[in-house]
Amino acid sequence: MKAIRYHKTGGPDVLSQDEVTDLEPSEGEAVVRVAAAGVNRIDIWARTGRYKTSLPHTLGTDVAGEVAAVRPHAAEAGSQVVVYPVLSDGSCVYCRGGSPSLCLRRGFVGIATDGGYAELVKVPLANLIPLRGLDPKTAAAMPVDFGTAWNGLSRKAKVGDGDVVLVWGAAGGLGHAAVQIAKHLGARVIAAVGSDSKADFVRSLGADHVVNYASHDIAEEVRSLTDGLGASVVFDHVGGDTWAKSLDCLARGGRMVALGLTSGPKSEVDVRRVYSDELSIMGVYGQSKGDVEQVLRLAAEGKLRPSIYRELPLAEARRAHEIVESREVLGKVLLIP
Ligand SMILES: [Zn+2]
Repeated sequence: MKAIRYHKTGGPDVLSQDEVTDLEPSEGEAVVRVAAAGVNRIDIWARTGRYKTSLPHTLGTDVAGEVAAVRPHAAEAGSQVVVYPVLSDGSCVYCRGGSPSLCLRRGFVGIATDGGYAELVKVPLANLIPLRGLDPKTAAAMPVDFGTAWNGLSRKAKVGDGDVVLVWGAAGGLGHAAVQIAKHLGARVIAAVGSDSKADFVRSLGADHVVNYASHDIAEEVRSLTDGLGASVVFDHVGGDTWAKSLDCLARGGRMVALGLTSGPKSEVDVRRVYSDELSIMGVYGQSKGDVEQVLRLAAEGKLRPSIYRELPLAEARRAHEIVESREVLGKVLLIP
């Protein structure tokens, strides 16, 4: 089969299309014929060495397709599925408590194992989620970004009517999911974007207000939109560059959903406001299977819709990475084997 691999970490040019042996499932596994694979920020981090992987390695954490083979042989063969991306042992204290994303032996499909940038991918049977009529391209665009945003905004921050949610990087994969989910949960959404050219796109997702954080003081803008109070929730997946500003943007009692580190891991913040204004910082790592099932259900009902910016053939994985890294992307980039 064809698989995109890198034999050493580095820039997009380390990705090459290789001919590799077809996959066979072991006991308790399925081999899925990939219909579409989503490109995520985590793929870039693995390719550049921030996340360690085996070498050579095939990326691809978001993947949907058709079950080609299973062991033991069962009725699932031939069915349309999307892969739940979190690998866990199912037996540690966190797994037993219902939090597989905290598993002591956690990993992601496409990082801990070879992923979906290939014609076939092998995953545990427990990671298969039936598509139930949703098309595979839509499904492949959802688990990482929409699942994570659901975890952060619905399960952790419990966003609802009356909330004002500020979403950083609102036009990218994760941001465009967060805008839609915050709207679906009943919030007023302030979308922060880095260029005016992205304003129309984030408005089309439902954003009530758009702020260009490159040309405006975001905390001032957020306060002027909220009678001086600030946002009740900030969705920050940028990290080092934005943490201090995110805290500035929060209203008293506000919740900061913190995930991802696009801009790096270090930030200097004044911690006084965290206690004097009773702020909550909620870390989010991945998503539960229930989070993914929920966002797929909402997509099937037409309530969430991943925006597909580019569909590229598998052989153009390099180009796909360049697009995601360029920050020109609006929504998701897919690879199609
Ligand atoms: Zn575990």
